[in-house]
Amino acid sequence: MDTHTAKKALKKYFGYGKFRPMQEEIIHSIYDGKDALVLMPTGGGKSICYQIPAITLSGTCVVVSPLISLMKDQVEGLRSNGVEAEYLNSSLSMPDQRVVEERLFRGDLQLLYVSPEKLVSQGFLPFLKKANINLFAIDEAHCISAWGHDFRPEYTKLKFLKQEFPDVPVLALTATADKTTRQDIIQQLELGEPELFVASFDRPNISLEVRPGQQRIEQILDFVNTHEDQAGIIYCMSRKNTEKIAEKLQMRGFSALPYHAGLGDGIRAKAQEDFINDKVQIIVATIAFGMGIDKSNVRWIIHYNLPKNLENYYQEIGRAGRDGVKAETILFYSYGDVSIYKDILSQNASDPEHLELQMLKLDRMLQFAEASFCRRQILLTYFGENFQENCGNCDVCKNPPKYFDGTIIAQKALSAVYRLKGTVGVNVLTDVLRGSQKKTIYEKGYQHIKTFGAGRDLSNFEWQFFLTQLINTGFLEIDYQNNMVLKLTEASMPVLFENQKVPLVKFVPKKKKEKKIKYTPIERTPAEMLFEELRQLRRTISQERGIPPYLVFSDASLHDMVKLQPMTDEHMRKISGMSQRKLHLFGNQFMDTILAFKNSHFRKMGESSYDISLQLLKQGLDLSEIANKRGLALNTIYAHMAQLYLEGKDVPLFRFVSKNEIKAVLKVTQDMEEIDKLKPIFEALNGEVEYNKIRLILAYLEKEGKVSKNS
Ligand code: ADP
Ligand code: ZN
Repeated sequence: MDTHTAKKALKKYFGYGKFRPMQEEIIHSIYDGKDALVLMPTGGGKSICYQIPAITLSGTCVVVSPLISLMKDQVEGLRSNGVEAEYLNSSLSMPDQRVVEERLFRGDLQLLYVSPEKLVSQGFLPFLKKANINLFAIDEAHCISAWGHDFRPEYTKLKFLKQEFPDVPVLALTATADKTTRQDIIQQLELGEPELFVASFDRPNISLEVRPGQQRIEQILDFVNTHEDQAGIIYCMSRKNTEKIAEKLQMRGFSALPYHAGLGDGIRAKAQEDFINDKVQIIVATIAFGMGIDKSNVRWIIHYNLPKNLENYYQEIGRAGRDGVKAETILFYSYGDVSIYKDILSQNASDPEHLELQMLKLDRMLQFAEASFCRRQILLTYFGENFQENCGNCDVCKNPPKYFDGTIIAQKALSAVYRLKGTVGVNVLTDVLRGSQKKTIYEKGYQHIKTFGAGRDLSNFEWQFFLTQLINTGFLEIDYQNNMVLKLTEASMPVLFENQKVPLVKFVPKKKKEKKIKYTPIERTPAEMLFEELRQLRRTISQERGIPPYLVFSDASLHDMVKLQPMTDEHMRKISGMSQRKLHLFGNQFMDTILAFKNSHFRKMGESSYDISLQLLKQGLDLSEIANKRGLALNTIYAHMAQLYLEGKDVPLFRFVSKNEIKAVLKVTQDMEEIDKLKPIFEALNGEVEYNKIRLILAYLEKEGKVSKNS
């Protein structure tokens, strides 16, 4: 098996023009019959690594996958691309399982997805033995390791594969595995001299942003207002908050649902399904949401609370933008969240070593949130990658912090902490600095403190912003054990008593957008309008076929269609994700929609009706096909060509008229007074050159300066 065959299959069955980094090497190692372990981030493209061998080799590839809901979507996705695939798990009735087993036995299947339970169940081995298996792919392979976070006992029985089928290659794939887990996977599966493939965990299309956790709901509402119809997930720590936020969104007219372990199975399943099918835009979830979904067009992720470690954070934001199209993420952080985690962790601390590790991980999470240099660098370094450049797609890279001399601000803050003897937290400190008239402040007698009101010139928001920096840089510290009160540190003394300078990052107020009520019509660009129409068509098809919209076409495919505006098969094949089967099934509907849109909106797109005819010509249609497609008369299309030619556009005129015909026309027009009428010319040539050709030839002669129209 060779590269050429693999590449051809990639285009034919998946509509992709080239392999992503590492996919090709992995496929080759399978062709060589070797075992391998693959580490690739979510959305990195792991499936292609076994699907291409499955399609190009004879026999069946058996894919072990622990997530039943994913199995169905994956099989449907493959089928819509014309691949013979089935799945076997407990959700199928016995007779249905029989049918699948029969197909496997007959050698009808290119891929068979099985749950680990089914695979290791009594009586399944004889079936496997009778079938012609070309590859075992173990998805989510980290489930084999008791060290990992999703340990599945059945996975440990999978060693029988290598024992019973020593000659069939085994491919283990995962998105999360530290060194111990990797070793565990290799040992437990008894892989023989496996190749190790570790792809970069960078997901450059996902933007990273961290914001202080103040007025979070307001910020979220502002955000979703400008992300109309884009699917997103908001992760929260508490069940109560998921419901609260979902309700606030609903009240503003957004389609949003909560999702957490306390809701009934039915409600949860429905929420997940509606989200996958683009029927609900926003899910507000505890971390439990997302494992079982492959939806590729999740466009944004918001963390309402700080995740408890970078592994969780990265896994959760990784659910955005699997299609490779731009996706956004926002993380809100607050010291309150840190304090809650610290409490939970210490309460559940049975093992001190474990506790220390969790605390360290939480600290790394906090460092990420407080970082003043490229966040992607921090993330990827954490995951063991050497990533040195500035990514250009995180908030720090986009708005590098600007420093100013913040000594006076720092002195005011530290001196207030000093005078309050380290007994108050950030909020009360802010009140004191701003000279708040709150009853609680007066009751405590804080109005008598010397620094009371010394910081009136700054807003609440600004003070919180600067205090956070002072904490991050070690001039103040939070006592988590003691109500999160602020304490001075060793570093505070030189600032208070020796006038040491303190640089602080400038506060840049967020531009307050005009308050918009949902459904105020926004002016869409033609490209956005076309995208919307294609999205609607995708939704209709998805409903007719009972498959999720992202399996009809990914957002990436739709964007490609907007960009290339294909109106012929030949051009449609250039669209990323346009497999042969999808072109056959859906191509015409999408082309018709594109053409109809262009016909009615060409002016807005800065085009003329002529331009559309020219585009169709360039996409390989002849003139009568163009007339047909556009529902216009052939004469009109010829007139378009003549006009385009005069405008200097690239019209292949000599495809339609011969040199001799030009000569003939030139000859009879020499002695004519008036040459903007076709009929006299036609008659002078005794009808030997048809009207439409004369039209083109006149354009040519005029352009060459051989005749001039007296119009
Ligand atoms: P993973 O299993 O690693 O999370 P997937 O296999 O689901 O990732 O792939 C993520 C997305 O990338 C899918 O939409 C897939 O079709 C797409 N993809 C995979 N390989 C390629 C490729 N070579 N070119 C373009 N898109 C690809
Ligand atoms: Zn960056």
